[in-house]
Amino acid sequence: MTLASLLPALAASPSAAVAVTGLASDSRCVAPGDLFLALAGGRFDGRRYIGQAIAAGAVAVLVEAGAGLAAGYADAAYADAGATLVDRARVFADAQIIAQVQTAGQNRVNGDQDLASLKSGQLLIGMMDPLGNPAFAQQLAGQGVSAMAMELIPRISRAQSMDVLSSMAMIAGYKAVLIAASTSPRMLPMNMTAAGTLNAARVFVMGAGVAGLQACATARRLGGIVEAYDVRAAAREQILSVGAKPIELKIETAGAEGKGGYAAEQSEEFLRKQREAMGDVLAQQDIVITTAAIPGAKSPVLVTADMVRRMKPGSVIVDLAAERGGNCELTQLGKVVVENGVTILGPDNVPATVPFHASQMYGKNVENTLSHLINKEGQLNYDLEDEIVVGTLVAYQGEVPHKRMRELLGLAPKA
Ligand code: NAD
Repeated sequence: MTLASLLPALAASPSAAVAVTGLASDSRCVAPGDLFLALAGGRFDGRRYIGQAIAAGAVAVLVEAGAGLAAGYADAAYADAGATLVDRARVFADAQIIAQVQTAGQNRVNGDQDLASLKSGQLLIGMMDPLGNPAFAQQLAGQGVSAMAMELIPRISRAQSMDVLSSMAMIAGYKAVLIAASTSPRMLPMNMTAAGTLNAARVFVMGAGVAGLQACATARRLGGIVEAYDVRAAAREQILSVGAKPIELKIETAGAEGKGGYAAEQSEEFLRKQREAMGDVLAQQDIVITTAAIPGAKSPVLVTADMVRRMKPGSVIVDLAAERGGNCELTQLGKVVVENGVTILGPDNVPATVPFHASQMYGKNVENTLSHLINKEGQLNYDLEDEIVVGTLVAYQGEVPHKRMRELLGLAPKA
């Protein structure tokens, strides 16, 4: 039995074939949502599509029965693509590579059971909150399991097709506008009717990264008047490109762009000046979408309780940073807070509410990651000189090799 690729499994076209599912709306990507793959015998060129590989008998793909249903993928679609539908236990027993949406460590429903089922020599790939829960990688390493954390895919051009955070952010930005629109007491587009003119809603997007730009584009399509702000100077052109107006604050933002295009953490002094300048802008808005995040750190507070109290009653804030503390001081994760007539929503795991496309994109990201890992001979190849492998591998050969995670765990740097 080789570790031939299950990779293109996830790309088998249509992606429904083995689309990674499990972004079901009822939970954080737990069953029925996880995709498992097993490989059984033979060698094949890891870069070929799984359909060919399956046809050649080179690889077996196991999918947990019912895994895709909640996301709109029937078992029959997987079976048609050549996968074998099995129960969860069999997946863990037989698979050499296990791909999940959320792995144990994050999966609150059957994560513990999955962890107990993982065996030495298996590769686990999925989202596992490596920076929030680094001890989990240590546990996997202790069990002899290798693990790739999809959240850590580096932000470099050649890894773009593997970048799950971008995929999920795009979906979250879109959905945030729909959530806001359905909560707002107003319509978004301007309408001239026999009963008078209805003014277009004003939408303000704070943080113009992947989610923010998608929010701008979606709000524009719905007919809103859209403005956006970001701490990174480079965001200005991007805001304009999606038809929104950039808001500029007269405060120094040198050094706002950190490594890999992400924002750098700003000083408390900067954030205070930013809030002062932002209060007036917020007071004019009907909808505010906040998306500002700093990788691995708590989200900056951009909207204080005082600023909320200055906003118009009936306005709505959708805080996409809620999972990491929120950009609004009043946000409560998964709850609706109403303050002075302003509704503040802190939705949890927004991509899970668009599971069909979230799964399709996630599946493709995983497939591309595995394609990268598997060589022409169909063997798993952990190239420890490669930035993508080094940046993503969190458990390997009984250790946690990842530099940042070793720091978080208080482990000495690896020689
Ligand atoms: P993110 O989710 O980490 O943050 C969202 C946005 O919030 C960012 O634009 C950030 O600048 C902004 N922000 C942070 N602190 C802020 C503050 N105090 N005030 C206002 N805004 C603040 O970022 P993201 O959306 O994942 O992407 C950020 C950048 O990286 C974008 O330019 C994106 O195009 C780029 N990117 C590059 C690649 C790649 O090269 N492979 C992949 C994805 C994204």
